Formats: sequence, C-alpha cells, structure tokens
Amino acid sequence: MTHRQAAFASAAKTIIENLEKRGMEGYFFEDSASCTDAILASIPEGSSISWGGSASVKESGLMEKIKEGNYELIDFFSTSDPGERKKLYARAVLADYYLMSSNAVTFDGELINIDGRGNRVACLIHGPENVIMVVGMNKIVSDVNAGIDRARNFAAPPNAKRLTRQTPCYATGRCGDCLSPDCMCNQIVITRRSGIKGRIKVYFIAEDLGY
Ligand code: SF4
Repeated sequence: MTHRQAAFASAAKTIIENLEKRGMEGYFFEDSASCTDAILASIPEGSSISWGGSASVKESGLMEKIKEGNYELIDFFSTSDPGERKKLYARAVLADYYLMSSNAVTFDGELINIDGRGNRVACLIHGPENVIMVVGMNKIVSDVNAGIDRARNFAAPPNAKRLTRQTPCYATGRCGDCLSPDCMCNQIVITRRSGIKGRIKVYFIAEDLGY
C-alpha cells in the first residue's frame, strides 16, 4: 500500500465511523476491481437496479459488471423517447438498488449532492430500497461548506462540458451562482442522516473517480 493509500484508509476509517452514527454504512477498498466485486456480491441476483448516469459508477467498472450479471437494469439512458423515460423514472423509484456517487463526503459523514433535474437526489432521499454510492477518495472534503464548494466549482464545470450546459461554469470553469435555464444546481442536498438504518451504503475507493 502506498503512503497515499494508507492515508486514504485512515481517512475512510474516520468517515465510516461517522457514517455509522448517522445510520449509514461505509466500506473502503484499495481499488475499483475489489470494490465492484464486493458490491456485486452484496446484490442478490434478479434484483432491479437503477442509476442516474454517474461517472464514478461507470469509471469503476461497476456498470459493465452489472450489465453482464443477472439483474433487471432500469436504465434511463437506454432510450431518448420522453414517454419511455417517464416510465423509467417511475420504475427507478421502486428499484431494489440505486447506484450513484456523491459530489462530496465530509469527514463527519455528511453527503453533499447537487442536481439539475432532481431525479438523482430524489432517489437518494426516498424510494429505492437500497442506495449504493461509489466514491473515489478525491470526493472527501473537510466540511459541508467545502463540499458545496467542491460540487459547484470542481464537479459542475466538467459535468457542464459533458452535458453541454449553457452555464457560467461551462464558460469559465467556476461557479457563477447562476439562475440560468440550464442550471445544474437547482437542488443542493445535504444528507446528514439516513432515517432507514443501513439503506445508504458508501463504498470508498482509494482512487480518483468521477468529478
Ligand atoms: S454556474 Fe450555475 S450550474 Fe454552474 S455550478 Fe454554478 S449554479 Fe451550478
């Protein structure tokens, strides 16, 4: 284990203890391969799984493994038809598992997420039986304010490029606190506790993943 990984392991231990106080579970892995194997082993075959298009879920290789497995995948990105997409949204809310990342996680165990449409944070808050988060240690921040800053100034700009959003962060690379029609920060959600114990499971990986 490198010194960087060792420091990540210590930080993850601190955060996992704090997540437990907040009704959430946390796990730490040195690499994506071992983490995604553990996640797959925790999801019973035949389960329905949805996701919101997370770059971390994709980069970790989890989505590829899910597609190869015996699961019912509810994939919003499988169609561009508005009617079909509406139905997929409805099914996502009833899924056994919802896969996502978090824009930031504090040392105290709070989760910070921004969302434009709101479907991702809606499923985080309520609906799917289980929420599995894949979080690279690049998402760890000191506190909630740092998490919001990270989400708006470091997660949003590359996401704006990916989605070609006409926002200040697209043009300048930093948040302009916009009220534009393309705004990706209509919702800023801080999850400070899970009302259903163990519903949210955060899988930390000692790698840089997503935005
Ligand atoms: S410029 Fe707008 S969309 Fe971009 S991070 Fe700021 S509030 Fe969000």
